[in-house]
Amino acid sequence: MIVRSISYSGTFDSAHRLLNYDGKCAHLHGHTYGVNVEATASMDSDEMFILDFTVIKQVINKFDHAVLVWVKDAELHKALDTLSNSVLVHTDKETTAENLAEAIAQEIMLLIGARLLKLKVEVQETPKGKAQFIYDKPTS
Ligand SMILES: [Zn+2]
Repeated sequence: MIVRSISYSGTFDSAHRLLNYDGKCAHLHGHTYGVNVEATASMDSDEMFILDFTVIKQVINKFDHAVLVWVKDAELHKALDTLSNSVLVHTDKETTAENLAEAIAQEIMLLIGARLLKLKVEVQETPKGKAQFIYDKPTS
């Protein structure tokens, strides 16, 4: 068994708003989000990938040119239902950079599975602001 690491960076363009927020982010607006994924996993020496970069790209691309909608934002759901061709991504939590990093991380954790030792997913919302989700496999 050997330990290897990968990293992958991408971007996606999305619209969102924060429902329980008193400020301009409560208004529907957009960002070009930056995403950086770093994963460390144990591998057999004959395995090719921790996770194919193409698969990571597919995870990120699900958010691209979409409206990110918290499932509890009924007003935004109602408004978007009147549009004929919008792409919606429903989230379990408010669409903060922290929660988007967690959502991406959870999908990648499922894809890598038990071999995963460490994962860091960073979501950059603005040139000045980014959030990280960090997973460290507990030592048994
Ligand atoms: Zn925003």
